[in-house]
Amino acid sequence: MRFEFATAARVLFGPGTFREAAPLARELGQRALLVTGRSAARAQPLGAALQGAGIDHRLFAIPGEPTTGDVEAGVEVARREGCDCVIALGGGSAIDGAKAIAAMLANPGTLLDYLEVIGRGQPVPHPSVPWMAIPTTAGTGAEVTRNAVLASPEHQVKASLRSPLLLPRLALVDPELTQGLPPALTASTGLDALTQLIEPYVCVRANPLTDALCVEGLKRAARSLRRAFEDGADAAAREDMSAASLFSGMTLAHAGLGAVHGFAAPIGGRFPAPHGAVCAALLPHVMEVNLRALNQRSPGSEALRRYEEAARVLTGRPQATARDGVMWVRELCAALQVPGLRTYGLAPSDAAALCEKAAAASSMKANPIGLTPAELQEIFERALGPA
Ligand SMILES: [Zn+2]
Repeated sequence: MRFEFATAARVLFGPGTFREAAPLARELGQRALLVTGRSAARAQPLGAALQGAGIDHRLFAIPGEPTTGDVEAGVEVARREGCDCVIALGGGSAIDGAKAIAAMLANPGTLLDYLEVIGRGQPVPHPSVPWMAIPTTAGTGAEVTRNAVLASPEHQVKASLRSPLLLPRLALVDPELTQGLPPALTASTGLDALTQLIEPYVCVRANPLTDALCVEGLKRAARSLRRAFEDGADAAAREDMSAASLFSGMTLAHAGLGAVHGFAAPIGGRFPAPHGAVCAALLPHVMEVNLRALNQRSPGSEALRRYEEAARVLTGRPQATARDGVMWVRELCAALQVPGLRTYGLAPSDAAALCEKAAAASSMKANPIGLTPAELQEIFERALGPA
């Protein structure tokens, strides 16, 4: 057995912990770049609290999934304003954007020197400037992942900036911040978290530490995602989902993912579809095709036992089979009104190009079995949903 584990230097979790953000920011620096998502107004209470704690700040909004241009603009603002630390308050987009900004503030050269796929992929030499991640959704676990996923509109692809040096000083996870999330966003982000607990659990690089986090996270997501969707003010359900998301970030950072995320990368690069919604549309179909492929070509695979174990955690039934797990996920997606990929403008004619890119995606390498081009095509067509 060999594994390693690296996460945020400190994780602070719990309802009400948001009130500690400003005092804790004093440990980061004196002038912060406060990175937010679409609704910058949401950052006002934190801005006021920072002021009260004697910390200057400059606001920087990332309105959608972060692009290389957003990061370059954020670095420019931070340099011009003399910011010595970064605080991210938002969903995975704001957090990943802030993660890349904090890294580039401490490193020479340009983003393209370090970006995978579209850049030179050089190792990041220096730790990021001190930064804090405060998620306002429960989905991506970006507060504890070692990569920032950035879109490059000119390349029509998403690529990662990746290094253990990107981890924040503090991940502050306050489930109360997710209480205002509308149901559709609760569903898509929550299903991303669920995907990020199932894929690392059955993948080829799982280890005992990630297994423990996966099982605990799956248990919480299974009992609480539907409740959080139906009643956004259900504090216990929100708490479970914030924990599930946090654990999902820790597991994916160390075990890897699978075919759902293999598809999500090229789809997200070409279509304006939210990451969580894409994962949700793919998840049951990937599980089903993976199971069939494993049964056909690798019937002794450890992954089959893992799918069965995951099904037992999800359904709460000790006799559940792997197939029951697929049914459970399918029913959940129906209850959460997950739309097919067609909703985001994808069409059957996109299959060839997207399947080819998905096959080459880094997440695909951890899938429990190598899928054939025909199997990838089948997954894509099913995930499109009804015409
Ligand atoms: Zn994801």
